[in-house]
Amino acid sequence: MTTLVWFRQDLRIKDNPALFEAARNGRVLPVFILEPAEQAGETHPLGGASLWWLHHSLASLKADLPGLIFLRGSARHLIPQLAKEVRAEAVFWNRCYEPHAIERDTDLKKVLKEDGFEVKSFKASLLFEPWELETKSGGPFKVYSPFWKAAQQKTIDDALPAPEKLEFADYDGGEKLESFDLLPTKPNWAKGWEDCWQPGEAGAAERLEGFFEEGLKGYGTLRNRPDLPNVSRLSPHLHFGEISPRQIWHATQKVMDRKSSVAGDGMKFLSEIAWREFAHHLLYHFPKLPSDNWRSTFDAYPWQEPGDELEKWQKGQTGYPIVDAGMRELWQTGYMHNRVRMIVASFLIKHLRIHWHHGEAWFRDTLVDADLANNSASWQWVAGSGADAAPYFRVFNPITQGEKFDPDGVYIRKWVPELRDLDTHYLFAPFDAPAETLKKAGIALGETYPKPLVDHAKARKAALDGYEAVKQAG
Ligand code: FAD
Repeated sequence: MTTLVWFRQDLRIKDNPALFEAARNGRVLPVFILEPAEQAGETHPLGGASLWWLHHSLASLKADLPGLIFLRGSARHLIPQLAKEVRAEAVFWNRCYEPHAIERDTDLKKVLKEDGFEVKSFKASLLFEPWELETKSGGPFKVYSPFWKAAQQKTIDDALPAPEKLEFADYDGGEKLESFDLLPTKPNWAKGWEDCWQPGEAGAAERLEGFFEEGLKGYGTLRNRPDLPNVSRLSPHLHFGEISPRQIWHATQKVMDRKSSVAGDGMKFLSEIAWREFAHHLLYHFPKLPSDNWRSTFDAYPWQEPGDELEKWQKGQTGYPIVDAGMRELWQTGYMHNRVRMIVASFLIKHLRIHWHHGEAWFRDTLVDADLANNSASWQWVAGSGADAAPYFRVFNPITQGEKFDPDGVYIRKWVPELRDLDTHYLFAPFDAPAETLKKAGIALGETYPKPLVDHAKARKAALDGYEAVKQAG
C-alpha cells in the first residue's frame, strides 16, 4: 500500500504521527507543496525571514528523507492529482490550525474521501487540540491562568520515535528546492544567519539540549533579561515543527526529575510552551484574531496614520535605545527577545499610536518564528485589545524597562554600537545626558544617534487620552 504524506508545519521525522503510521502501512510518498497565498486562501502569509528558514528546514528534511518531493501550486488540486498518479490508497497529514488551513484541509478531506482514498489527520503540533480543553461551563478559555490549570490536569501523550523502516514510493516529477527561490538574493540580507541558526530537526534537538545545559537554570527570572542566554530560542523550530511540544514537554520533565534544583524553572518553561497552546486555542475559537480587535471597544481608539515614524521604528531609529536595540536585533537576526518584543510593541502602539496591524505585519515579515497564532495573540495582548490583556491600559516606560532588564547595558551596546562608550547611567535615555558626557562618548544627538521621536511623558498622556474613547465605547 502507498500512502501520500503531506508535510506542512511538521518538518521532522521523529514524533511525526502521519509519517509513522504511513510507514507502518507500506510505501510512503512524502510531499511538500509551496502554496501561493492566494491559492491557499491565506490572508496573512509569511514573510522573507520565515521563507529563509523554510528553505533550510526543507533542505534538512530532504537530507533525512530522500524520497521527499517538492511541488508548487494549489494543494486542493495537487494532492488528489498526485495521489491518483502514484496510485496511492491513503493520504495522511498532521493538522494545522490557521483558519485558511482548516478550511482547505476540510475541503480536501471531503474530496479525497469521495474519490475513495483513506484520509487521516493527526495531532502533532500542539499538546492539546484547541477543542480538547474547555471551561467548566463548556466554552473556550479566554483567560490564560485557568487554561494552564486545566492543561496541567491532562496527560500528555508520549512522543513517537522515528519510523523503524521507510520505503519510498517512486515518483520522478516535482521541482528542485532551489527553484522555490525562498532565499534572498539581491541583496542577501540574511548574510551570517547560518551562524546564529541551524534550521532542521537536528538543529532543534541541539538547541533544546543547549538550553537545558546553559539556559534552564534561572529561566524563571532570567528569561526577562535580553542580555543573558536564558531563553531557549526554540520558537522558529516549533513553528516549522522541527521539534514537537510533546518532545519538549517530556524532555523537560525528565530534566526536572533528574535535577530537582531546576524544577521551578522547568515548570515556568512549560508554562510558556502553554502560552503557545493558548494562542492557538484563541485563534481556533476566534479566527478573526489576526484582523479584528478581540475587544471590539478598541475599534474606537484614535490611531494615528503611520508615516515616517513607522519607518523609524522599523529601522531602530526612535532615539530610545532599548527599542532601537530590539528592532535592530530583529532585522539582523530574524529574532527578538520576548521582553524586548513587549517593549517595542508597546512603543509602536502607545507612544506612536500606530495600529497594532502595522507591527504585526512587520514582525510577520522579519521574524524567523513568525506565527499567526502567537503573533496576533501577542500584538493584541500588548495593545490591550486581546483576550487576557491587563485590565488597565498599560504603557511600558522604555527608559525604566531598559534599566531594569538590561541593567549593565550589554544588550543595548551590542545592537546600538554608536552608544557603546556612553556611561551606563545615561545609556537608557541619552537625551538626558549632559552635553559634555555625550561629547566624551563621541555622540552627537541628531547626527550619530537620533533624538527621541517623542517625549515619553507627553506620548504617555496622549495614549491614555486616546484610551478614553475605548472606555466610552464600552
Ligand atoms: P522561550 O522563553 O524559550 O519559550 C519557549 C517557547 O514557548 C517559545 O519558543 C514559544 O513557542 C512559546 N512562547 C513563549 N512565550 C510565548 C508567548 N508570549 N506567546 C506564545 N508562545 C510563547 N512567538 C512566536 O513564536 N511567533 C511570533 O510571531 C511571535 N510574535 C510575538 C509578538 C509580540 C508583540 C510579542 C510580545 C511576542 C511574540 N511572540 C511570538 C511570543 C514570544 O515573544 C516568543 O515566542 C519568544 O520570544 C520566543 O523565544 P524563545 O523560543 O527563546 O522563548
